[in-house]
Amino acid sequence: MTALSDVVVVGASAAGLTAAETLRREGYSGRLTMVGEEAHAPYDRPPLSKQVLRGTWEPARVALRGEDALAGLDVEWLLGRTATELDTGARKVTLSDGQVLGYDGLVIATGVAPRPLPQGHELAGVHLLRTLDDALALRQGLLAAKSVVVIGAGFLGAEAAAAARELGLAVTMVDPLPAPMIRQLGARMGELLAALHVRHGVDLRTGIGVTGLVGEEGRVTKVELDDGTVVPADVVLVAIGSVPAVGWLAGSGLSLGNGVECDELCQAAPGVVAAGDVASWAHPDLGRVRVEHRMNATEQGTAAAKTLLGKGSPFLPVPYFWTDQYDVKIQAYGLPSQDAEFEVVAGDPAEGRFAALYGVGGHVTAALSWNLPKEARALRRHVVQRTPWQEALSVS
Ligand SMILES: Cc1cc2nc3c(=O)[nH]c(=O)nc-3n(C[C@H](O)[C@H](O)[C@H](O)COP(=O)(O)OP(=O)(O)OC[C@H]3O[C@@H](n4cnc5c(N)ncnc54)[C@H](O)[C@@H]3O)c2cc1C
Repeated sequence: MTALSDVVVVGASAAGLTAAETLRREGYSGRLTMVGEEAHAPYDRPPLSKQVLRGTWEPARVALRGEDALAGLDVEWLLGRTATELDTGARKVTLSDGQVLGYDGLVIATGVAPRPLPQGHELAGVHLLRTLDDALALRQGLLAAKSVVVIGAGFLGAEAAAAARELGLAVTMVDPLPAPMIRQLGARMGELLAALHVRHGVDLRTGIGVTGLVGEEGRVTKVELDDGTVVPADVVLVAIGSVPAVGWLAGSGLSLGNGVECDELCQAAPGVVAAGDVASWAHPDLGRVRVEHRMNATEQGTAAAKTLLGKGSPFLPVPYFWTDQYDVKIQAYGLPSQDAEFEVVAGDPAEGRFAALYGVGGHVTAALSWNLPKEARALRRHVVQRTPWQEALSVS
């Protein structure tokens, strides 16, 4: 084991917490400091756009660990503070309160930040959704509102639109692309999701961009669209994607492309690893990959911590993600993509339960289920084995 005595983890969420737990489990007994911008102890984000927004969970239920488990980690928690600078030569991290932390091992797990619109966020009633505080503020806004416009029909926007419909609001969802989640899941899934949202009463405006937000007395009242129409809105959710939280790493010497660029072991520089949404690692088969999914944060947090301890191996996950919208649960293994072939191999979309495969370059790249979870787990083997496309279709 590499002899470390002073490890700093920046980002106190899923990936950072898992890295800290892995360090302790693997025998690291030195000093361990966790720096987190949010004042909350580590919590889970997926319920924010689902149970928290709908109000079926108390906010406290999103905590990732109980107090005893956190205390057992023997961590110095520096929450409500931001890392503002990294000096990889001197091995120092500077914080927003001026404190400087030396380290011999550093885990970067700062995730992503939501992308804002170029203008309009100064208006009351305009929301982003990334943190627990964001979710609680949005829920408060929705409870007092009659109408919401969701800008962006990616998985966050689509989940929030579903939650808002369940709360009884008039929901308009707008996206310049032709269908919801088309970039992540492709055209056929986009059509099915569009039909799902329309069936549940969403006024879906696809292929249409937003030109501006209009307010009265400092509060949003309307959204102007590029087809010349104007949609009234008590609340607006801006869900147009996210950007890796790497601003504090400018000048650090780390390679910052689409996230913190790491090697296949998740190492970004000697003594520095990255994990979770912020990390772009060199996948031996797939090239540079960055995954914004919950399970990846855990798996990569574990892998990165082991690398720091000198026990690393190439990070080769089978990515997994899920999304819940109304009574539909979609689960996917691998990396679905817009340009892939797509074939339903079990069940039937018309019956609201099916499983499908994605293929690129003549082999399977992803498996997905729509209310058929067992089937997706069974198809996962094709993703792991990169089964030739025709063979997978004939045996599935
Ligand atoms: C509303 C919502 C719903 C989601 N639903 C799903 C889902 O259904 N399925 C799924 O697979 N995934 C889902 N995800 C994605 C999943 O939550 C993320 O992949 C996961 O949280 C990534 O964990 P992370 O630790 O890498 O980053 P994050 O959870 O983003 O944590 C990063 C932390 O670092 C902090 N930070 C940032 N910069 C600094 C700094 N300079 N100094 C100190 N701290 C800093 C941030 O404040 C944050 O607390 C969802 C995400 C959101 C927001």
